Amino acid sequence: MTAVRSQMLEVVRDAYPETFEGLGPSKPLGESIFSGRTPHPNEVLNLFVQQKLTSALPMAYYMATRRGPNSLMDRNLPRNATLSPEVLQHAITGLMALREVERNETRRVIFEPKGSRPCSVSNCPSRTPTGPAAFEAYQKVFDRIVGSSRLGTKVLQVPEFYEDCGGDVQCVGPGICSGCVERWESGHAELRKRAWMALPGVFGLKD
Ligand SMILES: [Zn+2]
Repeated sequence: MTAVRSQMLEVVRDAYPETFEGLGPSKPLGESIFSGRTPHPNEVLNLFVQQKLTSALPMAYYMATRRGPNSLMDRNLPRNATLSPEVLQHAITGLMALREVERNETRRVIFEPKGSRPCSVSNCPSRTPTGPAAFEAYQKVFDRIVGSSRLGTKVLQVPEFYEDCGGDVQCVGPGICSGCVERWESGHAELRKRAWMALPGVFGLKD
């Protein structure tokens, strides 16, 4: 039993990492690592709370909240996936805080790139970052990135700035150059790190 438990813990620690670096760009995380039936994220959260797997709790809360309030409070879930009032309260409070971070900071990343001078690529709307063409392009990208979270959050996910524009063409907003996209990508990487650091606080896991 002890061997099984320690092996399981190892798998869990990998999928519910304790550090930001543990997230990795494309490794399987959360409930998808369980073999057989994929458990509901609420079920995993309940299990970790019961087992006092403190180091895995921030990620488990995040995985449950990213689907939004309907998933957290779904009345059709089995008993072991139903959250206690206390856990639910932490989850909803955290979800609201993360959504706020996601909206405000993504807006800042896209609309006010840090320390950057206006872009010098001839057709890029960022040549005049305060002009109407830039605003329209930024707004479109912002809506697509943040809107894809619906009522949940994707704040820890690497966003797809490019979209398919027919054929093999990848584009962002109208005319946005790749240099500007790279700046957004690195800005968003910092945002993810800050959001990660905030998890224990927003979910009430710190004293
Ligand atoms: Zn540009």
